[in-house]
This record gives sequence, C-alpha cells and structure tokens, in this order.
Amino acid sequence: MMNRRLFIRTVATGAAVLAWTRKGLAATYDLVIKGGRVIDPSVGLDGVRDVAIAGGKIAAVEANIAGDITETIDARGKIVAPGLIDIHTHAGRSKEGPPLALRDGVTGWVDAGSAGADNIDQIAAVARGAPQIGRALVNIARTGVTSGGELLDINSANIDLARGAVVRNRDVVVGIKARLSNNVAGPNDLEALRRAQEVASSFSLPLMIHIGQSYSPMRAILPLLKRGDIVTHMYAPAPNGILDDQGRLFPEVAAARRRGIIFDFGNGVLDHFNWDVVERATGQGFWPDTISTDWNVMSKTTGVVDFPNVMSKFLMFGMPLSQIVACATVNASRVFQSFDDRGTLNVGAPADLSIMELREGTFEFLDNYKGTRTGRQRLFPAVTVLAGRPVQGA
Ligand SMILES: [Zn+2]
Repeated sequence: MMNRRLFIRTVATGAAVLAWTRKGLAATYDLVIKGGRVIDPSVGLDGVRDVAIAGGKIAAVEANIAGDITETIDARGKIVAPGLIDIHTHAGRSKEGPPLALRDGVTGWVDAGSAGADNIDQIAAVARGAPQIGRALVNIARTGVTSGGELLDINSANIDLARGAVVRNRDVVVGIKARLSNNVAGPNDLEALRRAQEVASSFSLPLMIHIGQSYSPMRAILPLLKRGDIVTHMYAPAPNGILDDQGRLFPEVAAARRRGIIFDFGNGVLDHFNWDVVERATGQGFWPDTISTDWNVMSKTTGVVDFPNVMSKFLMFGMPLSQIVACATVNASRVFQSFDDRGTLNVGAPADLSIMELREGTFEFLDNYKGTRTGRQRLFPAVTVLAGRPVQGA
C-alpha cells in the first residue's frame, strides 16, 4: 500500500511533469474559437473565453488559449454556445432537412412523430444519413401525421405495430408521440394516450404529447403521463390548455412539472401558441423546460424562421439569455438519453457548437395567430461547428 509520504511525492512529480509539458511542448489544437461570449449553462459559464478543439472534442475552455493551432474562428462580439438540440422538429421528412437545420446551429434533432409504424423506416433512414445526430419518435398512429386527423379512427393507434416500429429502429427511435388536439384525435384522445403510453412504457421510453384544443381537459390528460414524458405546445390556447378561464395556471399543471413532466415550447405554425398565453403563463413563473421549433424545410417562410429566432421570442418576456440557451442545449440533452454527452462544452464532449449573433434593433416576432410583437434583440445563426469542423455554406 502507498504510504502518505510516497503519495505526496508522487503528486509532486506529476505536477512537475505537467509544468514541463506546458513549457516544453505546445498544446496542439485543430480549431480555436477566439474571444466569444461563451454561454454554457451546463457548467454555469457566461463569460469571454476561447474554446479549443482537438480530435473532434472540446479540449479546453479558457481565456487566451495559445499553442499550435491549425484554424481559428474570430468570435469576438458573438455568442458561443453548445450546439442547439431541437427536440421537436420534422427534420426527418426528407434528406434535405437535416443539412438545412445544421446551418441554423442545430447539431441534434428529434423528428417528433412525422411517421408511425407504416412509414417510420424512411424517417429512420434520413436520421441515419444525417450529418448531425438525428433521432425520431414513433407516432402512435400507424400513418404518422395526416392532415385529416390521424387518430379520428382509433384503430390507427395499433400497439403491436408501434412496438414493431420501435424494435426495427432501436438505434434511432427514442420515444413515442401522440397528437391529442380535437382535430387530430377527437374524443379518442385519452384512449390514444393510453395506447401510446403502453408502448412507451414497455421500452422505458419517454412519450411526447402534443396538446392544445383537445377534447379532454389537462386534468384528465396529465395523470396518464410518467416522469420524463414531454408536453409540447405548452402555451396552446384554449380550449383545454394549461390556463383556466381566468388565465390562472391549473394547479395540476404545476404539479405535473414537480413530478418530472417536461414542458416544451414547440413553436409550430397553426394553433400552438399565442402571445397572450405566453405572457400569462410566464407571468406566473411557468417558463419552458425546453425550447423547440416544430421545424420543417418550409420554416424559413413561417413564424419559426430558424431556431435562434424562436429562442429570441423569450428575450421579449424577460427570460435571461443563459436560461434560453439552457432550454435549447443542456435541458434538451437531458430529455433523451441519446444526447447525454451533448448540450455542453465540457472538456471531452463532442465539439458541436452554435455561434450566434445577438443583434440589437427592432425585430418583429410572430405567434400562430398572426399576432406580432416587437422585440429589441434577436439571435441570428452565424457559424455552426459540428464534430470540431465549421460547417460550410452556413
Ligand atoms: Zn410537430
């Protein structure tokens, strides 16, 4: 056994070796991102730093990093954040989607139920071929999303077929999705939810439900969710949203959050949020756990525009920037196990980063009801770094 004196000497020798290495051999980095405002909520960092990358991993986050540096990005005046993780997209619908999202800073995405048992294999193929990490939720309706309402016929929610879809695609399927709006499920919402939960629970996977204008109220829906499940479109207007007729947050909603249900923004295009609900809910302290876009390849021309634009909407309501970044990075990474080592600039983490510009000015933001609000700041995507390499064509 090592006695105390020997142990002390060993430590001293180690320090000496380290000092010699620092003087004698310059550290070698593939890329250093210099002088940006690094916001990494996973370690509580918000300050001007350099980020050094070697071998596709974060090698150091420090002031004034020197050494043998192959490539430098000047990030002075910009925000340097972990790569954005968008947990509600439809990026898997075509192979053009993932590279487009990557330009916006999205280095990880989840396709949230575009497809069910009948068509999930195509989505899974897109996810496997994507430049960044892509994952998918299986819609409990075998058809996936349909414009006519995929759960109006409850037979579409077939447990065995959904299980088969998960089994065939265990490498990319990370959960189950159910859309519960009245125009999607009608009075079948609770039965569809029960079936979706039966599939999700049998694999210990999270279930994401889409709420808003459902047939059943939140107090009937929420008890069917387990810890780690996700409610997307959290600020969907009445009927049957998270607020009562007086605009007060239902106590059942706050209780659901306390027992580990995750509330996700899910911007979308139609019926998913209006400014009034955001204002009332956030005024009562009910902020999102995660911010997501409900993005698809057409989003540039809708109120989504891009992920940083969606994040900017919360600046208007006074949410601190570091908390907004957390919702789009570390918080999102904790929802699905596949993203465990992401959403952070910890040394050793995959070197996925989103460099953004926070511009001051007059910016108009859209809700899903043609409501506009004017903000004084907006985040713009600048450079995406994926696995240590700047993405071209951004
Ligand atoms: Zn969606």
